[in-house]
Amino acid sequence: MARPSRPEKLSDQLPGLFDLLPPWEEDDRAEVLVAKVVFPDGPSGDFDYLVPACLAGRVQPGQRVRVPLGKGNRLAVGYCVEVGSRPVGQRQLKPIGQLVDERPLLSPAMLRLTQWMADYYLCDWATVLETVLPAGVRHRAGLRLTTFWELNQEALAKLDLATLPPKQRLVVQILREAKEPLTAPEIQRVAKCSAGPITALHRKGLLKGRRVRIRRQDILEPPEPRQPNLPLNPDQQKALEIIRQVIHSGQHKTILLYGVTGSGKTEVYIQAIQEVLRFGRQAIVLVPEISLTPQTLQRFRARFDSVAVLHSHLTDAERHWQWERIASGKVQVVIGARSAVFAPVPHLGIIVLDEEHEASFKQQQTPRYHAREVALWRAAAEGVPLILGSATPSLETWYQAQQGHYLLVQLPRRIEDRPLPPVSTIDLRIENSGKKPLAISRPLYAAMRESLREGGQIILLLNRRGFSTHIQCPACGYVLKCPLCDIALTHHRTQQIALCHYCDYHEPAPTACPHCQFLGILYRGLGTQRLEVEVRSRFSGVPCLRMDTDSMQARGAYDRALEAFRTGKVRILLGTQMIAKGLDFPEVTLVGVVNADTALHLPDFRASERTFQLVTQVAGRTGRGPKGGRVLVQTFNPDHPIIQAAIRHDYVRFAQMELANRKAFGYPPFTRMIRLVVRGLRPEPTAEFAKLLAERVREQLGLVQPPAGPQMPTRVLGPAPAPFAKLRGMYRYHLLLQSSDGDQLRQAVRRATADLQVPENIQWIADVDPIEML
Ligand code: ADP
Ligand code: ZN
Repeated sequence: MARPSRPEKLSDQLPGLFDLLPPWEEDDRAEVLVAKVVFPDGPSGDFDYLVPACLAGRVQPGQRVRVPLGKGNRLAVGYCVEVGSRPVGQRQLKPIGQLVDERPLLSPAMLRLTQWMADYYLCDWATVLETVLPAGVRHRAGLRLTTFWELNQEALAKLDLATLPPKQRLVVQILREAKEPLTAPEIQRVAKCSAGPITALHRKGLLKGRRVRIRRQDILEPPEPRQPNLPLNPDQQKALEIIRQVIHSGQHKTILLYGVTGSGKTEVYIQAIQEVLRFGRQAIVLVPEISLTPQTLQRFRARFDSVAVLHSHLTDAERHWQWERIASGKVQVVIGARSAVFAPVPHLGIIVLDEEHEASFKQQQTPRYHAREVALWRAAAEGVPLILGSATPSLETWYQAQQGHYLLVQLPRRIEDRPLPPVSTIDLRIENSGKKPLAISRPLYAAMRESLREGGQIILLLNRRGFSTHIQCPACGYVLKCPLCDIALTHHRTQQIALCHYCDYHEPAPTACPHCQFLGILYRGLGTQRLEVEVRSRFSGVPCLRMDTDSMQARGAYDRALEAFRTGKVRILLGTQMIAKGLDFPEVTLVGVVNADTALHLPDFRASERTFQLVTQVAGRTGRGPKGGRVLVQTFNPDHPIIQAAIRHDYVRFAQMELANRKAFGYPPFTRMIRLVVRGLRPEPTAEFAKLLAERVREQLGLVQPPAGPQMPTRVLGPAPAPFAKLRGMYRYHLLLQSSDGDQLRQAVRRATADLQVPENIQWIADVDPIEML
């Protein structure tokens, strides 16, 4: 067999690399070991490398390796994702230079998960790996190299100690007595000397140093006083019983725990988790980041011996430490936001995903994964139950339960049979007519006064994130919609058009309402800041607090604000959706929704769903204590079926109506969607490129014609300007791909972009199962 010649150039460039390689004779083996490597900062795709004999048995999938890359053979760090043998004699492969990690950072199961993610979310495998592995783990944060010193007994035996200076003699004596290697600071502390004597002894060959990575600090949470389990009510018992059966079946099953707000879902999670712990397994509990409050954590810490919390405020070192504790199996319950779905528990027993409808489970950067989708895959792969909990399940989840793919378990009543709060509407068409409109109408104002008089607290919700230029008639509430896409048309003042941000349909902006002919069809904006000013001036002396992403920037601000509200220091809490979710304050006797329509007419096919969820969730913040509570909803559309369903707490009715609508217009859960967003510095080339991309995708999908109508099973909408048409100086266009077959869409995008020349200053991204349409 021909012996491969030693490549001169490589060895010249990489002194030392070939020290690791076996003698070349070894390649007389019939087979060689080959590692597949992917690069986070390099070309996409995977590359084969030879595993040199000295590394055979040491290179495993999930480890990082240093390998020569490209023409210049610069050394690059990549992830080994596969190791296999193959016959010698094919293409000559470059060898792996070094191992970066002694052990794999990921288990084979987690590695498969990342491979699936890369495939499903149309991104690079290495990008997924770097997402799954926290930076602190990759950089070994919190570990530092420390030298441990011990005596070189042989050298010492040949020496008369008396010849050493006193300090050096003392150091020898200390090490002798210590019977274990010591660090320099430890020696110095006992000997009360500088580093000098240690260095001197080392030079004389009397000390041997061993470099070891140690942890800088160990962090331990103060133990929480333990609490007993609550005795379950009959509904909870029934729910737990069903979940138990799934656990004991030893098979994967997804359970939708659909329970109204305050029905005691958390207690069911806790007792279900206790069940899997009995089998020596671990649990992962995923909650929205804003629910990671001290209150939530305390509830879990009071029930389990060892809980690890993964929140966004951890330092790299803390995260690394938590990761290792979790991987070692010392942690029973991992609680965290979406990325905790990657927690390396060695024996997964169950995954719980609370508030499963929450949009924050979807990551808004590449890889744009949804924690629910990933949890589903992981739970199925590891054969364990997944519990999805919500008072307002996403329609995707609800539909799966309706189809019998998920097990539906219900908690239809609040704890102690507390009634859900009565909800009534305030008709802004009437309240706002005539005089200068205020954010808080007369009936809401009166209710607030009453609530304060009786010692209650108030939550005011105004979910306005600055984007809402839909065209609505203030007289009759009519809203202009796209005939093809059923989403609200957006008013563009400069061109005086009403534009569909999905398909680019547009018409002249009307001057009169097409429905009631009222002149003055427009929309007035109102944000939380203006609302705060109004509340402060009309309720002077009443402590009030605004909560939105702007006012909650500082670290700990959110927890402090909630604490102020809990202790009663703040009487009126106003804010965006941030205050709508999960809070449990028994003194809240009034919830006011300042404008229910802000979410209803967002240019997004999920606008109705968001509105229903928001009103229902915020309504759930009151009536949680013995004082009871009520909800007032201000709206221009009191008769809108979605608003009506929300008022009656009627999720099932809402789901029925909205699913019918989704079906008619071909939206998820009846289709799968991929959104392609094109960004560029200048508008024309960006629009051109978006058009080219759309053409190519249409071609791949066999759609030569533009969409013919709403019922098309597979269609490509756009390109159209994205609702945020300009963001951070970049022009944005998007197109929406819909099909009942998600794989078909993925393939089309892959093929359409495989050899696509992307002009300079233009980027495109793919968002699979998009949540955010702005
Ligand atoms: P959900 O998550 O469904 O909104 P929670 O789990 O927050 O509801 O429960 C609401 C309140 O009811 C909490 O204060 C909780 O401690 C209490 N609770 C839950 N289960 C019981 C029970 N079986 N008996 C008494 N109180 C309970
Ligand atoms: Zn349209």
